Amino acid sequence: MIEGARTKLLLVDDRPENLLALEAILEPLEAELVRASSGEEALRRLLTEEYAAILLDVQMPGLDGFQTAELIKRRERTKHVPILFLTAISKDAEHIFRGYTAGAVDYLLKPFDPLILRAKVAVFIDLWQKTVEIRRRDAILAEQERAAVERESEVRYRSLADAVPQIVWTTDADGKTLFYNERWYEYTGLRSGAVDGAVEIVHPADRERMMARWAAANADGSPFEIEYRFRRHDGSYRWHLARAVAQRDEGGAVTGWVGTAIDIEDRKLSEERQAFLAEAGWVLGSSLDYEQTLTDVARLAVPRVADWCAVDIFVDGKLERLALEHADPLKLALSRELEQPMLSAVAVATRTTEPVLVKEIDERALAAFRFDDAQLEIARALAPLSYVTVPLIARGEIFGSVTLVTAESGRVYGDEDSALAVELARHAAAAIDNARLYAESERRSRAARALEAVGDGVVLVDRGGVIRLWNAAATTITGVPEEEALGREIEEVVHRWREIAPLIPVASKPGEPVRAETVPVELGGRELWISGSGVGFEEGTVYAFRDLTEEKALEELKADFVATVSHELRTPLAAIYGSAQTIRRTDIELDPEIHDQLLGVIASESDRLGTIVNDLLVAGRLDADQLPISVERCDPGALATSVVDAARTHLPESVELGLEVPDRIPNVVADPGQLHQVLVNLVDNAIKYSPQGGPVALSIANGDGAIRFTVSDHGLGIPASEHRRIFEKFYRLDPDMTRGIGGTGLGLYISRELVRRMDGKIWVESRLGEGSTFVVELPAAADAG
Ligand code: ADP
Repeated sequence: MIEGARTKLLLVDDRPENLLALEAILEPLEAELVRASSGEEALRRLLTEEYAAILLDVQMPGLDGFQTAELIKRRERTKHVPILFLTAISKDAEHIFRGYTAGAVDYLLKPFDPLILRAKVAVFIDLWQKTVEIRRRDAILAEQERAAVERESEVRYRSLADAVPQIVWTTDADGKTLFYNERWYEYTGLRSGAVDGAVEIVHPADRERMMARWAAANADGSPFEIEYRFRRHDGSYRWHLARAVAQRDEGGAVTGWVGTAIDIEDRKLSEERQAFLAEAGWVLGSSLDYEQTLTDVARLAVPRVADWCAVDIFVDGKLERLALEHADPLKLALSRELEQPMLSAVAVATRTTEPVLVKEIDERALAAFRFDDAQLEIARALAPLSYVTVPLIARGEIFGSVTLVTAESGRVYGDEDSALAVELARHAAAAIDNARLYAESERRSRAARALEAVGDGVVLVDRGGVIRLWNAAATTITGVPEEEALGREIEEVVHRWREIAPLIPVASKPGEPVRAETVPVELGGRELWISGSGVGFEEGTVYAFRDLTEEKALEELKADFVATVSHELRTPLAAIYGSAQTIRRTDIELDPEIHDQLLGVIASESDRLGTIVNDLLVAGRLDADQLPISVERCDPGALATSVVDAARTHLPESVELGLEVPDRIPNVVADPGQLHQVLVNLVDNAIKYSPQGGPVALSIANGDGAIRFTVSDHGLGIPASEHRRIFEKFYRLDPDMTRGIGGTGLGLYISRELVRRMDGKIWVESRLGEGSTFVVELPAAADAG
């Protein structure tokens, strides 16, 4: 900077002629001579320029030479500039002394010897030029030193950059890469020193995101940060966390970037594992269809934590493949060829409850699968790297297994992956267990509901004889509520259980056929006919039974009916047969009177037969609800009269039959034919069950909108306990006819059914031995007839 510039001398004098003289003297020195006509001007010039020396006049108006020199000496930048005082007036010592204290390097008196002056000034010029030269050298030296230091720090920086485990790079302000550390070349396998190709090795899926981030950072110099994958020399991708910060100059402008990238693959993997486990747990917990959820989980595992995922389940002791996943359908199809040997190997692996981890699947590991040649070829083509198999265990039972395999991802399983598989299997096994427990409890609750719904009584008696189950039908049949039966000994609940139990057949195990037996049981004061059988099992005995009381009664009824009807039919038939045989005899001559009597017997017994058959027919049609009924208004008096008249034709002598009909009686609403039959039944019974004879009366009364027909007798009477039952079908008080009075037990049943169908009521008032009164009540017609 100083080089090339001419040396300057400052000449200060208020007199132009003096300056001129000085210039003339100094001219040969080839310095640049700068004039100043006052002390002030001299100071001003010194502010901007550097001078080799100052020639200063002492005597000047304003600032004199000494004052000017003092000021020059006080200024840091100028204090070393040599000053030569020029004076004409004072030669005494005081002046000279003042001149020196003011910082003069010399003191020259006017008029001066030009040679001496020139020589003296030449010394200063020389001195100055040397100084300048030294300064220049210093500057060069300093520059060289700085460069050396810079060089050294760059080297240090690079070796530092090479030493750190991260990848380090720098770029210029435009993002063009200037430098990569060794780690980069090691990782990428790129040619050492190459600074391009960075974008190509970023995973295609991450590229766009990275470019966008980089553009955003570049736009305002904000820090760049991203997680992305880039390709390793072996072709696999690993996750990295990259960060870059802008470097700026003093003015704050971005001059470049320094970036680092750190391998976060392990962290990513463990994050991924956690995320996968969380999601798998969610999927497994979302449904009870465990086969579906396990298939979903296998799908979830690929490719997040595995390249292959297989789920195998034991079905009837044999391992079966439930799910197999791989991203590539072609490989999936190929791998099916390996299923059987793989299942056998997995089944072996599953025998231990520990995970089986094979970090490196080499030829020896493949050999363990016992593939045939074709299979081995497929296995090699699929190129599995490592695998881990873990059993699915819940409550000590091994359900199956989960197998994770790596291949194309280049991942190699380690202990952490094994732990992941164990965790996954734990979730999966719990899901299977839950689903199975749920299904079981569903089955049980269904069974329990069915048990409540069945019509058969079902009772479980434990080995100690205590009732443990008592279903709804058991309650209905026995009348004993569940809460009274449960927990109590069956002997307390079922009267005479000890005698009954041996009568009930019990199968020794479920499925063994047994025939139910019908036994009489006394329960809650009732006698029941129960048909039951039992099955023994580990908890005790289950009894199933049904109530046959009604069936039993019906059976008895049928037996009674057969007995009654056959008797009832046989009696008139015998009479008819006997009479007819007698009439046909040719060996004896019949008296015409006897002949007539026999014909009378035939007629009346035929009539009786007809009545019986008719009653049976009517009862059958009533049961089948096939008896038509046509209700009309009819005269009760006329009806009653015809009934009584008919009865009188065959009235025993001992019986008096009376009829009481009020004068004005409303019409009755009824089917006349059927009402007639009811009244005939009642009157016939009254006569029949008065074997000692006596009065029998049919009377009619009216009141409360109803017509009442009353048939009374003074005959055998009916005990109160039987008042209801005599209206039942086939029911007779004296079925064995100890009193010799026949009947089918149908008359009152038919009467009750007919009256009921005509919206009327029938009942009896009677005491044993005191005669009976039967009442039939039917609606009266609205107006008096
Ligand atoms: P049956 O053909 O036996 O007469 P019913 O149905 O007419 O059948 O009567 C049923 C039973 O009611 C009779 O067997 C008899 O025991 C009893 N019974 C009916 N009417 C009388 C009566 N008036 N007096 C006493 N017992 C009667």
